[in-house]
Amino acid sequence: MDNEKQMKRGEISVETAHIFPVIKKWLYSEKDIFLREIVSNASDAVTKLRRLASLGQYDAGDESYRIEVVLDKEAGTLSVSDNGIGMTADELDRYICQIALSGALEFVEKYEGENKNNGIIGHFGLGFYSSFMVSDTVEVITKSYTGTPAIHWTCTAEGTFESEAGERDGHGTTVVMHISEEESAYLEKAKIEDILDKYCAFMPVDIYFSAADDADEKKDGEDAKEPAPINDTTPLWLKNPSDCTEEEYKEFYKKVFRDFREPLFWIHINADYPLNFRGILYFPKLTNEYESIEGQVKLYYNQVFVADNIKEVIPEYLLMLKGVLDCPELPLNVSRSYLQNNTYVSKISAHIVKKVADKLNSLCNVARDEYEKVWNDIRTFVEYACMRDRKFYDRVKESLLIELTDGSYTTSKDYLEKAKDKHENTVYYTSDMAAQAQYVSMFAAQKIDVAIFDKQLDTQYLSTLEMYTPDVKYVRIDADVAGALRSDEVAVEDKSLEELFRKVSGNNELKVSFAALKDESVPVLLTISEQSRRMEEMMKLYSMGGMSFPAYPTEATLTVNTASALIKKLSEMEDGKKETTASYLYQLALLSQRKLTADELQKFLTDSYGVLGMI
Ligand code: ADP
Repeated sequence: MDNEKQMKRGEISVETAHIFPVIKKWLYSEKDIFLREIVSNASDAVTKLRRLASLGQYDAGDESYRIEVVLDKEAGTLSVSDNGIGMTADELDRYICQIALSGALEFVEKYEGENKNNGIIGHFGLGFYSSFMVSDTVEVITKSYTGTPAIHWTCTAEGTFESEAGERDGHGTTVVMHISEEESAYLEKAKIEDILDKYCAFMPVDIYFSAADDADEKKDGEDAKEPAPINDTTPLWLKNPSDCTEEEYKEFYKKVFRDFREPLFWIHINADYPLNFRGILYFPKLTNEYESIEGQVKLYYNQVFVADNIKEVIPEYLLMLKGVLDCPELPLNVSRSYLQNNTYVSKISAHIVKKVADKLNSLCNVARDEYEKVWNDIRTFVEYACMRDRKFYDRVKESLLIELTDGSYTTSKDYLEKAKDKHENTVYYTSDMAAQAQYVSMFAAQKIDVAIFDKQLDTQYLSTLEMYTPDVKYVRIDADVAGALRSDEVAVEDKSLEELFRKVSGNNELKVSFAALKDESVPVLLTISEQSRRMEEMMKLYSMGGMSFPAYPTEATLTVNTASALIKKLSEMEDGKKETTASYLYQLALLSQRKLTADELQKFLTDSYGVLGMI
């Protein structure tokens, strides 16, 4: 009856009214979160009623809880309905007009000046009033589960509201947002689907989405299918790890990260009190070493998506992984700088690091074959993590594999143990098996294991390892002529050959030394000390473009093998022939170490024809 309809008008007080324009203009890049806030309120309302039912304070019968998101483009509205706890008139006044408003006000005051991108994580806590980021008017039609009459409350973006008796079939709340003209993008079905998928995919209550034009589509179609919820209310991370199957982990990965490749392996974290967080971290399969930088770790707060890649919670080097973390204890309604100094957050982070290290160690110890198979896929990640975090290195150092040129794997401990008598504390490695093939075969002939460190990151990685364990040196196979390659024969120096080689190399600083090598087939060998080559690589890495470097560092050493028959012949040649042959030998030494430059190649061809002419 009309006279029972008590109309209430009101105006948000002057000091609070200013938040409307601020909310409207603010956060222009993060406007999408309004829907998360409204849908998670609906989800909370259902959760509260479920709890009352479980306490026996409410009889739910066979009611099924649900949230409905309805888009009506023609009417210009987006509505979110739930059959949760609902509100009485008093509650609406208290929760929406007072508490929510002052909460939003506090939030705005606190963060108005913050840098929009760095200030607040996931813009958590703006709450109900975030709906005004996209709406001119917002209506709330609500009916409490206690059976009090329904109320209809309408609030405009100017901060005036009206409240009157409303009509609603059952308990629960409907929030109708009248989308403003400038935000009409939020009337597009695809946009709403995207937002729901991003923020609400794992909320704990079934969410159904429909657009008004769906009804027309259905007319043409055959049997309308039973609508399915857009979310998964029991995401895999909430399950007990022992109840999850391999298939489920893989399915979950594909669905969440839209990656058709299977993950290599995963870590399911289920941290109880006092940390109380859960998550699954996947090691993705990489196609190249640079791709690894693009991991994605999604942060959730009680199944509500907050944001991607929050480096305050997880160390930045672990962001190369893909995964989900649900941290219901996380103080999200605070700024990032606060999180950086928060002990709870640093404990979460440390726990994750420990779990990742434990997983690598257990794979290495228990499933060595499987571990070797994935090593090349994960090594860039593991090496980078070791470089960034000494503690991580200390945890996994026994599980860092080294691939050898024969295709087998070892650890530095085993490598050094084997090398003890021949080359103590030195790990020989190649950075390019094809280009350094000559050296690789010489080492193989002497049964010296050669490691492969051929990734972009490796120069820095090896320097880091040498810093962590200063007694162990990593030496590229072409950095010096290893003792084990030399025979016991004493080499006789030949001053004239020394000068000749320096002359034909065009490098006045070239060091020429004489040694009798076990391998008699190699006449000359070029080496560049490990230190000067690394220095040069670093300079190249850090130099701004435009600087040019000599094709060869001046530190190069040419070792003349006095055991070689060719060298013996060379010393007896007449001058012209001798010079052409020496030049040719020098080119060959260069070639066995790296690609020639255009000029060098030209010289090499000229010398080759010269040598052929001598036949
Ligand atoms: P928060 O959810 O962080 O408490 P909000 O501003 O989003 O802040 O909401 C304020 C209050 O309004 C909620 O705590 C709740 O009591 C009430 N409320 C909001 N939406 C609903 C709803 N759909 N059903 C019942 N109560 C609601």
